[in-house]
Amino acid sequence: MELIAIPAFEDNYIWMLQHDGRAVVVDPGDAAPVIHILRSRSLVLDSILVTHHHADHVGGVPELLDLYHPHVHGPALENLAFAHQPYFGGETLSVLGQATQVMSVPGHTAGHLAYMLTPQDQTPILFCGDTLFSGGCGRLFEGTPAQMMDSLDQLAALDGRTRVCCAHEYTLGNLRFALAVEPGNTQLQSHYQHCQQQRQQGLSTLPSSIALERQINPFLRTRVPEVIHAAHLHQPHVTQPADVLGVLREWKNRFK
Ligand SMILES: [Zn+2]
Repeated sequence: MELIAIPAFEDNYIWMLQHDGRAVVVDPGDAAPVIHILRSRSLVLDSILVTHHHADHVGGVPELLDLYHPHVHGPALENLAFAHQPYFGGETLSVLGQATQVMSVPGHTAGHLAYMLTPQDQTPILFCGDTLFSGGCGRLFEGTPAQMMDSLDQLAALDGRTRVCCAHEYTLGNLRFALAVEPGNTQLQSHYQHCQQQRQQGLSTLPSSIALERQINPFLRTRVPEVIHAAHLHQPHVTQPADVLGVLREWKNRFK
């Protein structure tokens, strides 16, 4: 099974998996770059996975449906303008013959899903939409800090080798913020340098891994004393992980 990152818009990635000429795409906000890859590689679009309802994640679905008639899987708790198999989280579905776990990860949106596959003889793959980014997390448009904390805790508990396929190339900005939170985190410092080099060469910083995110992502580190201390500079006395996350998220919203 081959994992392909298709750049779209300014900084989105539409993730594709292909095996034996059949492909699945995740969050095709734009049909054109997907059609281009399908045609240039002679692939058939078998299915579409949708994590949440935002336009930059679903905008290309109707055109792809018209052209290829794929199976579409998406959140039950969100309004989507096309027919799809609805999921709440906790289900298992088959994608290109691979068992795929559906996870409920609300916070960015109310019904946000993540999809987790473990292809044979390969490390697991997580499609997490706008819930988890490398070095950061999604904005809380429809959920509470407590919901996002629960969602991120679920993701952080996955196998450390899991390849984390985020929907945006936000890594450098996120790592600059992470360094403001934890200036003494040496793994974070060296990962920031690595990602700067990647971007200078026009390369993606993704996929990340769960093990790496546990070391560098402040939103997965809300129980670490240095992170709690940094949150106290903005709001004294917060102790609960969800409250620390809420303070970090607000701080990040204003961070330049
Ligand atoms: Zn979104």
